[in-house]
Amino acid sequence: MNTAKFLGIAAAMSLLGVSMPAVAHASDSSTASTTPAPSYQTSSISLNAKTISTPSSFVKDGTTYIPIWYVMQALSQANIQNTWNNGVWSITIPSNITWDETNLPANNANQPSITVNGKPVINMPTVAAVDPASHAMTTYVPIWYMQQVLPRIQVQTNWDGQHWSMTLDQSQFGQSPSPTVHTISPIVNPNRKYTYTDMEADIRALANRYPDLVHTKVIGQTAYGRNIDAVSIGTGSATALVTGSFHAREWITTNLVMYMMDQYAQAYERNSTIDGNHVKAILDKTTMWFVPMVNPDGVTLEQSGLSAFPSSAWAGLKRMNGGSSNFTSWKANAEGIDLNRQFGAGWSGIYFDPVTHPWYEDYKGPKPYDTAEVKSLLGLIQAINPQMLITYHASGGLIYWQYKVTGTQLLVDQNYAKQLSGITGYPLVPISPNPSAGGLNDWWTNYMQRPGYTIEVGPPCGANPVPVSYFNSIWNRDKVDGLFIAIRSASLYPSHQSIQLKY
Ligand SMILES: [Zn+2]
Repeated sequence: MNTAKFLGIAAAMSLLGVSMPAVAHASDSSTASTTPAPSYQTSSISLNAKTISTPSSFVKDGTTYIPIWYVMQALSQANIQNTWNNGVWSITIPSNITWDETNLPANNANQPSITVNGKPVINMPTVAAVDPASHAMTTYVPIWYMQQVLPRIQVQTNWDGQHWSMTLDQSQFGQSPSPTVHTISPIVNPNRKYTYTDMEADIRALANRYPDLVHTKVIGQTAYGRNIDAVSIGTGSATALVTGSFHAREWITTNLVMYMMDQYAQAYERNSTIDGNHVKAILDKTTMWFVPMVNPDGVTLEQSGLSAFPSSAWAGLKRMNGGSSNFTSWKANAEGIDLNRQFGAGWSGIYFDPVTHPWYEDYKGPKPYDTAEVKSLLGLIQAINPQMLITYHASGGLIYWQYKVTGTQLLVDQNYAKQLSGITGYPLVPISPNPSAGGLNDWWTNYMQRPGYTIEVGPPCGANPVPVSYFNSIWNRDKVDGLFIAIRSASLYPSHQSIQLKY
């Protein structure tokens, strides 16, 4: 390290009161934790004079730290691709942008760093601390260091001790690909608490707008009479499946799946690409099936509370919720059964199995495959024969990818898992002797021996829903996940032309 230079930096940071934001995963070991808890202040990030977010920041050792998640979100909105992985914040800029590669101070490959187009620019300290907005541990990084990097890529920044403004020439970085023929307005607005009612209305609107492309099917009904909806997009013989909201408080995964459906349908009609993937060519080979909300009763209870249920059910629902009328941590269906502990793989010996009666989370039910939601999903899988699947959960930013899979299948599954990790920036959960069990993907990979991925989106939020403010950054990471499995399903299809479910 250049000691003189960094003394200068410390002094400068002290004068500016600059703090570092950091975005980190719980598994990120590259950061030091803060003890005691820092003293937070509210700051803001703006892009070309528009406020993007108002993250909490804190001052440590004379410099201001801010959660990197929010900085990534701001750059993503400016169409600057960036990912955080294993202590490296990687920024990719378009080839038409010239950037200043002179006098790069980075000198230690083992420290957290910022890279531009793969080249290390600067090393920086990071701190793991709770993000008060999400109640989750996250990575904070110093604003000062980012201010040394962003001007090199033609993003001007100014920090006044509270407000961090970024300005750039958006025409240079490129707006979202502009439709050349005609504009198709979006149907799904994912930047809100998205309900079962919203979903049903948007599914109808999608089917009406794209009658040749989008088809809908009610695959079952819940105990309280809500539909379990499935939607297909595409015309291909191969199939792939994407599910959202197995768990009630993880409903932001419905926002993601619905927005994905809308974006894929738009791109198909426009004959356009998403991150270089030609959507029509892909979906003419593979029909994608989506179940955007596996657990509509649970999601509705989590979002709306008892008022959305008959009064005769209130006492029982409260009892399963520990006596509380606050259902924001509800995870099960409205019968108090955890739908992702309902599958047979490892069911009798689920590693963490704390309750034996209906409860707001973790109760696996009296026997596997016992709920209407799970039976409906199995019926769909039997009917459509998916070659691969993705099941979205929240939170933590991780990919689970196999349950006790061995041999050649393990290599196949792992190969795809590594590619998905590369696309999303989410790390893979390592193979362990006591993996969680009883989930859809455990059954799918172990019993059915086909590739499947449980993707946990969003920063770690414990027993709370991921705030909607994270949606754009989640979309930025996950927008091509569906196309990824569609492409690979087309190549797997010749050897998977039928399916026989195993229990
Ligand atoms: Zn979950």
